Amino acid sequence: MGRAFVYVILGGGVAAGYAALEFSRRHVAPGELCIISEESVAPYERPALSKGYLLPENPTSLPQFHTCVGANEERLTPKWYGEKGIELILGTRVKSADLKKKALVTMAGETITYKYLIIATGARALKLEEFGVWGSEAENVCYLRDIADADRMVKVMQSCAGKSAVVIGGGYIGMECTAALVTNKIKVTMVFPEKHLMGRLFTAKMAEFYENYYKERGVKFVKGNVLTSFENDPSGKVTAVILRDGTRIPTDMVVVGIGIRANTSPFDGLDKGGAKLALEKGGIKVNGKMQTSDSSVYAVGDVAAFPVKLFGNDIRRLEHVDSARKTARHAVSAIMAPDETGDLDYLPFFYSRVFALSWQFYGDNVGEVVHFGDFLNSRFGVYWVNEGHIIGAFLEGGAKEDYEAIAKVVKTRSKVSDVGELEKLGLEFAFRE
Ligand code: FAD
Ligand code: NDP
Repeated sequence: MGRAFVYVILGGGVAAGYAALEFSRRHVAPGELCIISEESVAPYERPALSKGYLLPENPTSLPQFHTCVGANEERLTPKWYGEKGIELILGTRVKSADLKKKALVTMAGETITYKYLIIATGARALKLEEFGVWGSEAENVCYLRDIADADRMVKVMQSCAGKSAVVIGGGYIGMECTAALVTNKIKVTMVFPEKHLMGRLFTAKMAEFYENYYKERGVKFVKGNVLTSFENDPSGKVTAVILRDGTRIPTDMVVVGIGIRANTSPFDGLDKGGAKLALEKGGIKVNGKMQTSDSSVYAVGDVAAFPVKLFGNDIRRLEHVDSARKTARHAVSAIMAPDETGDLDYLPFFYSRVFALSWQFYGDNVGEVVHFGDFLNSRFGVYWVNEGHIIGAFLEGGAKEDYEAIAKVVKTRSKVSDVGELEKLGLEFAFRE
């Protein structure tokens, strides 16, 4: 049993949706392209799951947030795929690949062949069990990666209004889910191992601002500590969490956001044909055209480790939606128009929205830190200066043109001769450049 396509996108998330749009713009013929996805719905904008989807009133729902609405592009509904002759093979997990035969094998044993393959398998949420903590399959413990997780979390939240939750992890999921829980009238305690929120991106001063904002909304913080076990009632529901130092926190539900692993599994190790894809930084290594060590195979989005020109072609795996959108479109361009497609010149861009706050970050957070602006009135920023040049910039509460200005100074690596002057000028510096 088998099917054959010219182009196969493996994975049906953000990158898959943007790749499909680009294929369509480049006039892929009906029947030539398919998307294989373990999920049961057409590609959607995953960031909505921790924001509008969790709102207690008028939540966002599908088909509203199918890709590519997040980049103000067309909304690709299942009907759109049908009209374009792009086959959606949903609810289907690929278990292995034979790179020599250019074939993928599904869990049901079907073989799907390709001339060109784009791997867009994204990532999976790390489970507590991987850190030696057992019991996270309890019905009131939630992870958040896909729409099935989000539906589950909505149900658990609805049963906990006016009650309490423990959020494990102080990263993106931790921060965004805590905001959603509070909006759903649930009292939250956040537990994480670092000294402050978003330890990998925020400085202590930035984190202090967000932590105070959260505290004003009733959120409690337990820092420098980790969960070691759960207490359960006779039905198996979690009733309390126990931390490394013995602290016991009674709770009605738990949300876990402790990081992700790229979904490389169909390509790990030698495949049946004896071929292997190069891996790096926990993902699939690609060149500036998103091409893997097998010239017929491309990788994009969270699973891809690619050279960032701005950082001297350092290989990075970026777990953010803008990177998924742009690497996906670039791979399709490299496949369909190889002579016109150079190496991707990508400016790393991350953002988040919690409560009434909203921030954007561009570049890299290395070097000397320069804070600026008004930390009391939610309008501040940070520059990172490395070897006399701006390499990263963050802004909370900016307008569109402010974000464009900070993006530009990072992209052009603006020269800084006087750090004190930069601090004084703050955002103004970006507009002077
Ligand atoms: P994904 O969107 O994860 O898609 C991967 C797809 O591959 C899935 O459909 C999966 O089921 C499928 N798949 C995997 N393995 C197989 C297999 N073997 N066979 C078949 N199918 C398979 N980023 C931001 O920049 N800003 C945000 O505000 C933001 N919010 C987020 C909120 C949440 C709740 C989450 C989970 C992520 C958020 N992100 C955000 C990150 C962003 O969503 C990801 O970077 C982006 O989704 C990556 O796109 P992708 O296509 O590479 O992977
Ligand atoms: P993050 O990597 O952002 O954060 C994980 C957090 O969990 C860190 O605080 C980490 O600490 C902590 N942690 C790690 N191990 C443990 C443990 N055993 N016990 C308790 N805490 C632990 O991952 P998330 O899970 O928050 O997010 C998952 C993915 O979703 C990421 O790719 C993220 O980019 C994406 N996402 C992005 C959003 C955005 O861009 N706005 C929004 C939501 C999700 P430490 O740093 O010390 O390891």
